[in-house]
Amino acid sequence: MSDAAIHPAVLLAQDLIRCPSVTPAEGGALTLLASHLAAAGFSVERVTFSAPGTPDVDNLYARYGTGAPLLVFAGHTDVVPTGDVARWRHDPFAGEIVDGRLYGRGACDMKGGVAAMVTAATDFIAAHPSFGGSIAFLLTGDEEGPAVNGTVKLLEWAKARGEQFSHCILGEPTNPASLGDMIKIGRRGSLTGRLTVTGRQGHVGYPHLALNPLPTLLRALEALTGPALDDGTAHFDPSNLEVTTVDVGNPATNLIPGEAKAVFNVRFNDRWTLDSLKAEIEGRLARARREGDAEVSLTFDYSNAVAFLTNPGPFVDIVSAAVEAVTGRRPALSTTGGTSDARFIQACCPVVEFGPVGGTMHQVDEFVAVDDLASLTAIYRGALERYFGP
Ligand SMILES: [Zn+2]
Repeated sequence: MSDAAIHPAVLLAQDLIRCPSVTPAEGGALTLLASHLAAAGFSVERVTFSAPGTPDVDNLYARYGTGAPLLVFAGHTDVVPTGDVARWRHDPFAGEIVDGRLYGRGACDMKGGVAAMVTAATDFIAAHPSFGGSIAFLLTGDEEGPAVNGTVKLLEWAKARGEQFSHCILGEPTNPASLGDMIKIGRRGSLTGRLTVTGRQGHVGYPHLALNPLPTLLRALEALTGPALDDGTAHFDPSNLEVTTVDVGNPATNLIPGEAKAVFNVRFNDRWTLDSLKAEIEGRLARARREGDAEVSLTFDYSNAVAFLTNPGPFVDIVSAAVEAVTGRRPALSTTGGTSDARFIQACCPVVEFGPVGGTMHQVDEFVAVDDLASLTAIYRGALERYFGP
């Protein structure tokens, strides 16, 4: 196949994959996108953020037009590490196309989606140079890392400049098996808690001289894991508390341990806020407490992962219709999966997520189907036509 036959979004995705932008390295990826967007008439700004103890991160904000509404495409150009390169059949930074698949780190998460968004927007602008509204790109290099010097600060920076986002499409991989499966209209929140139970170490033959922390910890964990936190809400599965580790570290069989620890993580729906969930957990532990128990201390890790929902309505319909027009299928509206940068963007404007099939994200031999990139570009273009159309 000659280059002339390759879809422009595929060419751009190949070029992006060839930029080794493992978080926090920029790797040339934002520079490449800046030149594409500037050539299409966008005003492009590169913004670097830093914070003590974290690496500096390059970000990009680009806008075309001055009018309202302002539709934002959001994404990231950083990628997770390759792991052992010897396990890859295709060089993770070569952008090889084999049997209709574009291989490379970031192919689906999310350089493919970024390439399709940029191609769709520049095509749309070429066709309708004075469409009245505005299109912006919010691209970060810090989504897969600490996420400190990326989207959060870029949103604050844009807000301080008076940018008023109307709606946002985030191009993260959302489709489990084939393009058109799923749009994400919300995400669950995430909260991690840590329990430490402190008793008194002693000889198993003399238990009256010791205080075993384990019965207290077992009762605490039982109280946390049942009954269910809720039955789910209109657009969310039930919240789930998962115990992820229990640590005693006691190799001896004749020793009552002095301390025991456990960690749990809750993925919670829009029935809860971080505060109401913490209160529920504290309440369960207090009710489980018995006379003579070992001492229980509970701490929560810092979390900014709240649950949010973009209510179905005209904007969600526009994206759904664009997906259906290209794939022939009406996508499911889902709130499943992990957290994403959408949790930050939703504080500024309604956000939906739609991007490539994510089956190989973060894996060895990550790929995106070449045909999917062309279809994804057509979907984003269709969303633009509907959004700004008459
Ligand atoms: Zn991603």
